[in-house]
Order: sequence, then structure tokens, then C-alpha cells
Amino acid sequence: MADADVMDKLVSLCKRRGYVFQSSEIYGGTGSVWDYGPLGVELKRNVKELWWSAMVHQRDDIEGLDSAILMHPRVWEASGHVDGFSDPLVECSNCHRRYRADLPEVESGQCPSCGTREAFGEARSFNLMFKTFMGPVEDAAATTYLRPETAQGSYVNFLNIQGAARQRVPFGIAQIGKAFRNEITPGNFIFRTREFEQMEMQFFVRPGTDEEWFETWKEVRMAWHVSLGIRPEKLRFHEHGPDELAHYAKAAVDIEYEYPFGWKEFEGIHNRTDFDLGRHQEYSGKRLEYIEPGSNDRFLPFVVETAVGVDRTMLVALADAYREEEVAGDARVVLALQPRLAPLKAAIFPLVKKDGMPELGRKIHEDLRKESIPSFYDEAGSIGRRYRRQDETGTPWCVTVDGPTMDDGTVTVRDRDTLEQVRVSADALVGWIRERLTA
Ligand code: ATP
Repeated sequence: MADADVMDKLVSLCKRRGYVFQSSEIYGGTGSVWDYGPLGVELKRNVKELWWSAMVHQRDDIEGLDSAILMHPRVWEASGHVDGFSDPLVECSNCHRRYRADLPEVESGQCPSCGTREAFGEARSFNLMFKTFMGPVEDAAATTYLRPETAQGSYVNFLNIQGAARQRVPFGIAQIGKAFRNEITPGNFIFRTREFEQMEMQFFVRPGTDEEWFETWKEVRMAWHVSLGIRPEKLRFHEHGPDELAHYAKAAVDIEYEYPFGWKEFEGIHNRTDFDLGRHQEYSGKRLEYIEPGSNDRFLPFVVETAVGVDRTMLVALADAYREEEVAGDARVVLALQPRLAPLKAAIFPLVKKDGMPELGRKIHEDLRKESIPSFYDEAGSIGRRYRRQDETGTPWCVTVDGPTMDDGTVTVRDRDTLEQVRVSADALVGWIRERLTA
């Protein structure tokens, strides 16, 4: 199967099964913004909950924050985004399409859209922030921006959180939230969009210990991706060379994934030094130094940041899980999502629509739901078709109420990946599933 086909198939599966729809589709869509349907929103919640659990709940040294999307406009001057958050833009002299100048398909000088050679003049820099107005006046004084990253909310709250949570450096601030970038060339489905969600963590450390923490966070974050069931051979580090570094960074590494369209960034880990706290101190006129208990040393902490997109994590999870297989001569499409990520954990089928099987099936389904185990009840069509539908949806366990159930109270549980079938007592099903979700 060609890799380009995989993306097409994934996009169509996501639409068919209710994972992802194009935003404003009935108006022709926007291409750069996507909506998450019933299964997509569940996968998204699972991604966020697993990140929050690993980064906040399971640690003593990271605090959570939910800062606002709209911030004081001076924040974006201090952060360097007003002057520096831009990409080089070129425009085709023939069809007037605009592209990011550093895309490999544009660097040859030929327009990817109309084919004109030597189509582009000098690149100009294009600021990626969305501008808007705060309050009822639309003038320069009221101009503000939709945040292009969540990080700045963590910097301006550094002392609030440190004091309120009585944390000592080293400690971190974690946030999940929307970010907006007016990307010149969005694309590849939910890989690069203009509205997206980030999971970012800023770890404040004593200067001099930053390089060690940078190495630690590289390893911790890579291990998290592997813990989601992503194939390790599809993940690698890419160290940024001096010409690739962002304006704030001393060192940066990307965790890359091999998408169907090639190796590209999945998560960024950056040593941002004291750049951000230093700039906010300068622009706000407020001291942001930390006073170390005991030594009474005053210093601006250095920051090691880990930044990953929720949408991009979903794309990685979906692309990594997508398989086309042949089972006993029949083709099947399966989304082998790790059970903790899967939107539905179980599907309950009565083998036939009689002999009390539907009633018992519904009861099992309701028992699971009461325990917050997302389950789906389906009595329509042949059992084979019902299995195939759930394979494509990514449901790890299909539970069939059949003849023996009515005698001994056991159900058939079929594993999505191995196709192995085991008998489990219906009464023990909640525990059986829970055990596998926490393993
Ligand atoms: P690029 O150079 O590819 O534009 P970046 O290096 O500017 O991206 P960061 O600022 O490091 O990206 O953003 C952190 C993370 O946020 C990225 O690794 C990615 O997972 C996610 N992300 C960034 N931009 C987008 C976008 N436009 N759409 C979806 N996710 C994004």
C-alpha cells in the first residue's frame, strides 16, 4: 500500500466512523481547521487525560494551569512573537498562490500549483499570529492576539503558582489548551492546522542544571510516546542545528515520527534559558526572580519546555494503528489503538435477537457504562459484520452473548488484535477490562 494512499484511507475512515470532519464542510470546508466527531472527541480526551496523568497527577513537581487564550498585548512583544514569529512567504507570479519559502517543493522555484518555473520573487516574512481586537473599539490600541502557544501563560504566572503551590525550583507548570497560528501552508490532515491544541510543560530549573534536565525530559517524553503503544522504530530524535534554533532557544530537539508523508516533528523539547522570564521582567517592570530557601540566592530560573500537539498526537496514534489485513481469506481494516486510547473499550453483541440474549446484552452494556467504561451495543447484522465495524472503529474487545451465556453466565470476549476468543463470566467483565486498561 503506497503511503499517500494510507493518508487518503485514514481521512476517509475518520469521516466515515465519526473521528474527524472538515470544519464547515457544507460550505466547502476550510482545509486548515477540523472538527472532532463522537469518536474523535473521545480519543482526544484520552490523549489529554493520559498526558495530564503522566505530567501532573503522577508527579509532585509539576502543577497544572489553565490560562486564558487572550493575554495583554505586551506579552507578545516581550515574548518576541510580534517581531519574530514569522515564516518566509513567497507568492507565485502567475497564479498568486502563497507558500512557505522553506518547503522542499517550493525551493526549486517551480510553483507546485500551476507549474510555472522561476515563479517566486524575494521571500518576505509573514507573522503567524492571528490579530483581533479587545473591547468595543477597533483601533491599534485595542489590538491583541490569539495566543500562538500556551507557554507564555505559564511564564507570566510563574510566581503566582510557585507561591500558591509552595513549590521549590526545580518544578514545572503544565497546560493543555488551544493555540492559533495563521500557517501559510497548513495541510496533511490534522498535522498542521490553524487552530489546534497543545500540551505544554515549562520546567523551571537552576541555571547550570538546565542541560541535565534537558536530557532527562528528552527521555521522559520519548518513553511517554512509547507508552501509548506507538511503534518505537517510527520514533526518533532530531537535534536542531544552530540555524534551526528558535529565537529563544539554547538547545532544541524534536521527537519525530515517520508519518505516511515522511519523518516530521511530533514534539519539541527546548532549553529556553531565562529568555522568557527575563523579557517579561524587563517589559512588565516586575521582578520575577526566585529566591532559593536556605541559600537565599536570587536568580531567574532557566526553562526546559516540552511541547506537543493534541491533534498531532491523535494523527500519530491513528496512523500508527491503521492496518489492512487478511483474516481467513477476508480483508479487514483495523485500528489497533492501544486500549487506553481507544474511544470505545467494548462492544456488546447478542448472537441472535431472541432467547433473552438482547436483554442480557443490554444489561452488560449498561453495567459497563455505569462503571465509566465506554461501550457500544449492536444487534444488527451478521456477527462478522459487527466485528468488522468495531475493528475499524478500534474497539479492543467484542463481547458476544451466546448459547453458553444463558447456561453458565459466561460471554465470549474476542480480542481485536489477536482474534483470540476467551470465555469470561459476565459478572467479572468490568474487572477483566479494568485490569487490561491499567496493565
Ligand atoms: P513548525 O516548525 O513545524 O511550524 P514548530 O517547531 O513551530 O512547528 P512548536 O512551536 O515547537 O512547533 O510547537 C510545539 C508542538 O505543537 C509541535 O511539536 C506540534 O506537535 C504542535 N503544533 C505546532 N504547530 C502546529 C500546527 N499548526 N498544527 C498542529 N499542531 C501544531
